[in-house]
Amino acid sequence: MEQLTEAYKSLIKALEIIAGKAENRGVIECPQCGGQLRYARAKSNGHVHGHCKTEGCLSWMQ
Ligand SMILES: [Zn+2]
Repeated sequence: MEQLTEAYKSLIKALEIIAGKAENRGVIECPQCGGQLRYARAKSNGHVHGHCKTEGCLSWMQ
């Protein structure tokens, strides 16, 4: 069975943190590097995207 990559695990962690937030946009501590990770959640469909300030770190669109 293939192991989850560290980046993927960090992404899951970030989504868990964001899911616990009442605000639809803001900044959380990046689980990958400890830096600033900006996120935004779409009101219409609940989709979340995020982008870490650190280059080459977490960045995703859902
Ligand atoms: Zn990061």
